[in-house]
Amino acid sequence: MSGIMIAIYSDDYITNESLFRELVSLAKQLQAQSHERLTITVVGDESGSCTQTVAEYGEELVRIAIKVPENAPWPEYDTEALVQLCNELQPSMILLPKTFWGTEVAARLTAILDGSAAMDITAATLLSDSLEVTRTIFGGVAEARLRMARMPAVLVPHPKIWPEAEPLPTDSSITLFTPNIDLGALQTIPKDRHRLAQAPDVAQARILIAGGRGLGGPEPFKLLEEIASMIGGQVAASRPPVDSGWVSGQIQVGLTGKTVAPDLYIAVGISGAIQHITGCYNARNIVAINNDPHAPIFQYATYGVVGDWQDVLPTFYEALKTIIKSSREKVY
Ligand SMILES: Cc1cc2nc3c(=O)[nH]c(=O)nc-3n(C[C@H](O)[C@H](O)[C@H](O)COP(=O)(O)OP(=O)(O)OC[C@H]3O[C@@H](n4cnc5c(N)ncnc54)[C@H](O)[C@@H]3O)c2cc1C
Repeated sequence: MSGIMIAIYSDDYITNESLFRELVSLAKQLQAQSHERLTITVVGDESGSCTQTVAEYGEELVRIAIKVPENAPWPEYDTEALVQLCNELQPSMILLPKTFWGTEVAARLTAILDGSAAMDITAATLLSDSLEVTRTIFGGVAEARLRMARMPAVLVPHPKIWPEAEPLPTDSSITLFTPNIDLGALQTIPKDRHRLAQAPDVAQARILIAGGRGLGGPEPFKLLEEIASMIGGQVAASRPPVDSGWVSGQIQVGLTGKTVAPDLYIAVGISGAIQHITGCYNARNIVAINNDPHAPIFQYATYGVVGDWQDVLPTFYEALKTIIKSSREKVY
């Protein structure tokens, strides 16, 4: 087995291009050590912007697109298509993004190809006879170093660890791979599919104001929305507000949510459990508002306000209004 393959899903790319760029960085790091061929495979819509951008990622790449039929079961068809491609190319390492698609395909692909998998990796080193990776375990409270014993090694990197690779000008083309799949023979029979409204991606935001269980219900998130819109930010949440149905799961930050790295992260009524901090510790500044002076969030915060959010936030909101009003008066 030889070769490194990146596999991405065109829909994931539209919502999170940075994950793809990070995969390219990791692949190039491994390629510099192994000198193996690098392949990027786009699964989904082979005519979309994703495929066009992939065509720009350097000269030494092989680029492949797999078109997925409208009614194909997700991601069973995609996995089967990748299995057939891997049987042809025999890659020793397969890199997938940390998205719903990536983690599900990673598990299925590893089982079918009889390889080894590591999710949430934060480091990867090729040794003379094996691949060694570091990954977070036990919900983010510990790290483990693993030797990937069976090839292919299927790797899902933790977001925001590798830098985002820049495209290089190239004119090379994309090859279409057509798998031989009998849709009727697949185990899942799709009945209906419709797209849900997409919240703006919190992973891309420069300013986030995140609410936790301490907000007590969905209503206070409206105030967070107002404040966010005043400071050019977006609203995020810890897991309990998502589990309670107060907000959409698309804005959850943490181990099982998004990994974010904004300039400013305002955490309101969030205790600072490690599974939450894992998703936001790369923020340049964390401001914590919490009525418990011993809340762990204060260990990570650049600035902390000990107090009830019901006192602090309205005061902050009024102060912001005054600042914005006076800055407008200065301009006009
Ligand atoms: C495998 C696994 C994965 C997980 N993944 C995630 C994840 O992705 N994201 C995530 O967030 N969590 C995740 N969790 C859950 C995590 O362990 C915590 O339970 C969760 O982060 C706690 O959320 P919270 O801080 O909003 O709530 P709590 O821990 O209940 O904290 C609420 C805070 O609000 C404060 N508060 C209460 N009232 C007020 C008030 N009036 N004014 C100001 N402050 C107030 C309290 O002092 C407290 O500190 C995961 C857990 C596991 C086991």
